[in-house]
Amino acid sequence: MAVDAEMLALFKAELELCKVHEGEVVAALTACGEFIDYSHAFMLAAEGLGATAFNVTVPRSKPKVAGVQGRHPLAGNFPAIESLKRADLVIDMMGLLFSAEQAELQAAGARVLRVMEPLHVLRQMFPTEDLRRRVEFERDLLMKGKDLHITSKGGTDVRYKLSQYPVISEYGYTYERGRWDHFPSGFSFTQGNDGSVEGTVVLMPGDIFAAFKRYVQTPVRLKIERGYVTSIEGEGMDAALMRNYIESFNDPRGYAVSHIGWGLNERANWHHFAATQNLASEHVMNALSFYGNVLFSTGPNTELGGANDTPCHMDLPMRGCSVVLDDVPIIAEGKVVHPEMRAPGH
Ligand code: FE
Repeated sequence: MAVDAEMLALFKAELELCKVHEGEVVAALTACGEFIDYSHAFMLAAEGLGATAFNVTVPRSKPKVAGVQGRHPLAGNFPAIESLKRADLVIDMMGLLFSAEQAELQAAGARVLRVMEPLHVLRQMFPTEDLRRRVEFERDLLMKGKDLHITSKGGTDVRYKLSQYPVISEYGYTYERGRWDHFPSGFSFTQGNDGSVEGTVVLMPGDIFAAFKRYVQTPVRLKIERGYVTSIEGEGMDAALMRNYIESFNDPRGYAVSHIGWGLNERANWHHFAATQNLASEHVMNALSFYGNVLFSTGPNTELGGANDTPCHMDLPMRGCSVVLDDVPIIAEGKVVHPEMRAPGH
């Protein structure tokens, strides 16, 4: 199969950031018929760096559902899992996120790199050492943080007590044994202590329902008590949409408040869904990563070691918020004000 020269060069640069070197093993994980071009290009790029490469392909018997995480076709396929555990780097183009199988690969020492965005987004949001430095600074702040306070002119006023859960950084590449990342990305996140999140979150026009690839049009007021969303109110259709979506899972754990953090990738575009007209091939990493967002979310927390494995997950990036962590201002009305996390030129 012919491989696109630009794709090959981009993937080689990505694998260099991942410090793939001679003697390593790189596995490309795909579902049948998906990302065939990426898989070939990654394997050739890995061989070009002196690594051994192979592809594990598993059948996908059920269609992918937007927003539903942690259910994937590798589950129960022990021979495939055993092969992947022998790799130093697994390129996940199938969608392992939030699953026990991903944790198993990481525990075996494999670093895992998720890659599922279209090529033009991989190019647009390509990671840098500077992005890694700023995202790791965010990670370190969240690791030490105790009290996170988020407010907005729209009426958001919510507090998280922190310290119970670890922090995950996502800057778009991975070179540390057993570490997961997502190419491309640009934020860190953690989770409030069990039962500790209290207050109000108001989704305002321009905020994003990532699961719907849709911008909020009308304010949605979420009441949050002891770590759960206890009411979803609003005059427009957005509150009804959100209520209807979560109700459809018939799982009370879908109302839990999930991960929290802020976006730092200045190359990511808030307007992405508008500019791409919500094409089916477009995904959510621009929305989750754009500079100065607050990434609020609901649903599962297994990726941070929690027990909630509900499939109902909503990522809800918000604009214009102010973030204060232990009295240190981080973001003021959507502008990153902490000097260590400001992007060059911003
Ligand atoms: Fe999420």
